[in-house]
Amino acid sequence: NKASSSNFIKNIVSDDLQSGKVSEVVTRFPPEPNGYLHIGHAKSICLNFELADEFNGKTNLRFDDTNPAKEDTEYVESIQEDVRWLGFEWDDLRFASDYFEELYDRAVLLIKKGKAFVCDLSAEQMREMRGTLTQPGQNSPYRDRGVEENLDLFARMRAGEFKDGERILRAKIDMASPNINLRDPALYRIAHAHHHRTGDAWRIYPMYDYAHPISDAIEGVTHSVCTLEFEAHRPLYDWVIEECEMEAKPRQYEFARLNVTNTIMSKRYLKMLVDQGVVESWDDPRMPTISGLRRKGYTPEALRAFCREIGVARAYSVVDERMLEFFIREDLKLKAPRTMAVLQPLKVVITNYPEGQVELLEAENNAENEAMGTRQIPFSREIYIEQDDFMENPPNKYFRLFPGNEVRLKNAYFIKCEEAIKDADGNVVELRCTYDPETKSGTGFTGRKVKGTIHWVEATRAVPAEFRLFEPLLLDEEEGADKEFLERINPNSLTTLQGFVEPNMKEAQGQDKFQFFRHGYFNVDPKHTSAGRVVFNRIVSLKSSFDP
Ligand code: ATP
Ligand code: MG
Ligand code: MG
Repeated sequence: NKASSSNFIKNIVSDDLQSGKVSEVVTRFPPEPNGYLHIGHAKSICLNFELADEFNGKTNLRFDDTNPAKEDTEYVESIQEDVRWLGFEWDDLRFASDYFEELYDRAVLLIKKGKAFVCDLSAEQMREMRGTLTQPGQNSPYRDRGVEENLDLFARMRAGEFKDGERILRAKIDMASPNINLRDPALYRIAHAHHHRTGDAWRIYPMYDYAHPISDAIEGVTHSVCTLEFEAHRPLYDWVIEECEMEAKPRQYEFARLNVTNTIMSKRYLKMLVDQGVVESWDDPRMPTISGLRRKGYTPEALRAFCREIGVARAYSVVDERMLEFFIREDLKLKAPRTMAVLQPLKVVITNYPEGQVELLEAENNAENEAMGTRQIPFSREIYIEQDDFMENPPNKYFRLFPGNEVRLKNAYFIKCEEAIKDADGNVVELRCTYDPETKSGTGFTGRKVKGTIHWVEATRAVPAEFRLFEPLLLDEEEGADKEFLERINPNSLTTLQGFVEPNMKEAQGQDKFQFFRHGYFNVDPKHTSAGRVVFNRIVSLKSSFDP
């Protein structure tokens, strides 16, 4: 069900269609294949694809692969997988490198028109001569090179005659422009680098500001949507379209990028975490990558609903991470089976339950969604409960187990704690309890009430499971202030617990999602789960910490 909440870009597209300025809307999602996509990219994906969908237009997936040293086919593949998983299908799959020949030809055209020149200044000299916001720049001494010399040098740059950084091709615009992007910006640089698609065919590569508008125009993109940092590049975008004599006239529109509290939103830093081994991989469940969120247990529906809710605006903002959590809870509330898992087991022996007997009890799969039916769970003399559901010397208002107290076992019976068994160090290692057969769940027993309900699993049939609980990868803003990125890493971002789940979970498959009584929503980790050992990633707790 597509939401059609309005945003300023939609209004522009709608006006352009009505006025006949464009006959069909064409958008593109243009990732650079230098890392895995993150939640910020999800916003751009939803925006571009939903914009075209709503007006029966088209969206291309275009890889902006003009920076060979950092790019790789691994990223090309993961990006396609992530876009599809989010629920979108592109019309054409394109690569900026498909256009290298045409980009080169258009650059030759610029040289012939006297609109581009080969510059021999070093990067540092160029920076010095660029000027500042308040001071105009200075013309390069190579600015007035003749067309023939420029053509010759540019061809030799392509042929690989010069070293990296020795020369660049620059647009000839205006060194006194108040917009620094128009002060004879670079169009091509020399890079003796192997490209993941064109191999060693090219020794020069186009700059983003040159390749992007031309790629948009070649594809007939009508609305080229990007983030606000590119606002000041728009005059250059238009200059390239104009001077390169592109027939199509795409227009660039900017929106505010997504920022989320306590969330790293930059591929460069995310890559650092992978390269330094802080996380297992790009799809580590702690990563805010789309693949990490998927492995943690987020659904495409939840991510799309989140992107819709945050909307598209031009004002800078930071979204609370708890908003993301809200949407996954909403999505899983009625979908995920609710079962019992014991994360930190404490054995309980029910001394008055017949030895060797096992009975099957009926349990609802989702109290809020009857259609999910019921299941049978075994009960016997030995069960596991959660360690923190017992306290030897409880404070007031502790309604769970303590010596002499009675609680309800969810879906089963009341049990009463008779004795706590300790090891040599005084740790409680086992409880002895008694049960009351008359209190069986579902029989309508009203004889007396207990204040606490706790969860459990039957001990002899329980399936061993590992539970991975997560905290943010970075220390929170205050703790981390003024520290280097790698010093802001939260050393406690992962906690691993060994416990048990109900026997029917033996069949659980990677990516299956459950709500565990009291613990929250969990996803079966597709990489670490093996026969006989299920690994669960906690997606989110049942309630957010600020709303107990
Ligand atoms: P990063 O800084 O993380 O490397 P990027 O912008 O360099 O991101 P690209 O691969 O160039 O990454 O991004 C592809 C598209 O996704 C671009 O159109 C970009 O504007 C958009 N995008 C990237 N990050 C965000 C974000 N945080 N919010 C919204 N859109 C984003
Ligand atoms: Mg980019
Ligand atoms: Mg980047």
